[in-house]
Amino acid sequence: MVEIKTPEQIAKMRAAGLVVAEALKACREAVAPGVTTQELNDIADKVITDHGATSNFRAHHGGLWFPGVICASVNNEVVHGIPGERVLREGDLISIDCGAILDGWHGDAAITVAVGETAPENTALSKVTEGSMWAGIAQMKKGNRLVDVSRAIEGFIRRQPLPPKGKWGITEGYGGHGIGTAMHMEPHVLNYVAGRGKGPKLIPGTVLAIEPMVSLGTPHTTVLDDEWTVVTDDGTWASHWEHSVAVTEQGPLVLTAFDGGRAELAKLGVVAAPDPLG
Ligand code: MG
Ligand code: MG
Repeated sequence: MVEIKTPEQIAKMRAAGLVVAEALKACREAVAPGVTTQELNDIADKVITDHGATSNFRAHHGGLWFPGVICASVNNEVVHGIPGERVLREGDLISIDCGAILDGWHGDAAITVAVGETAPENTALSKVTEGSMWAGIAQMKKGNRLVDVSRAIEGFIRRQPLPPKGKWGITEGYGGHGIGTAMHMEPHVLNYVAGRGKGPKLIPGTVLAIEPMVSLGTPHTTVLDDEWTVVTDDGTWASHWEHSVAVTEQGPLVLTAFDGGRAELAKLGVVAAPDPLG
C-alpha cells in the first residue's frame, strides 16, 4: 500500500522538507578541512530544533539505535555513517544525509560535498550521482510507473563517460522509499531496473525519496561492526544524493529543494509544480 497524500498534506510535507533543506545548507557551508562530523551533526541538530522540528534519524530503526541527526559518510563509506570525532581532511568526499519531522510529516534528503579540492574522479562521481537523481525526479509524473524512475536513474549513469579513474558502481541492496507519516514506507525505489515488474503507478499524492548511491568501482557493500556504516567492498569512494519528491497534478514538487526543483527540472524540460507554500 502506497500512502497517498492530499494537497494539504503535501503542503505540510513541503514545510518539513524545507527544514531539511536548511539543515543541509548549514552543513554544506560548514564543511571544511579540520571540521569533525560531530560538528556537522550539531549544526543540523540546531537547525532542526530552531524550526520546531524533531529528528527522524536519531531514533530506533528496526530495533537499532542511530545516535545522529545526520548520516555522515566519508570517502569509501556509502551511507549510514555515524557522526563522531572523525576529522575531515582536504580532498575528502562526504555525503550528508538528514531528515526531520514537522507536524507529523517527514522529510529526507542528502548531498555530497567535497572537502576543499578533491580529485577529478570524485567531482565526476558526485556530478553523475546528482544528475541521476534529477533524471529520476523528472520521471515523477502522473501516469508513469515506478520503474520509469529506476530506469531513468540507471540509464543516466550508464550513459556517462567513465571517470578518469574507476567506473560507475550503482550500489545494490539500498535505494529510495515512500515517505510521509513515516520516513521509510512502501514502495522501495530501486536505482536500477531488476526483473520485469513495473511497480505501482505514480498517481498525484505519491511521495518518494529518490536517492541514488554510486561508487567508483563495485556495487557491492558491507556493513561495519558499528552495525551502521555501509562501505564499498573494494574501498572505492562513493556518492549519495537524495530528495523527497511529490507527484502532483501539476508535475513533480521537490519538497527538500528550496526552489521546489524548478531550476534543475527546467534543464530537463520538466516544469516543477508550484510551491504550495508560495
Ligand atoms: Mg536520507
Ligand atoms: Mg532516504
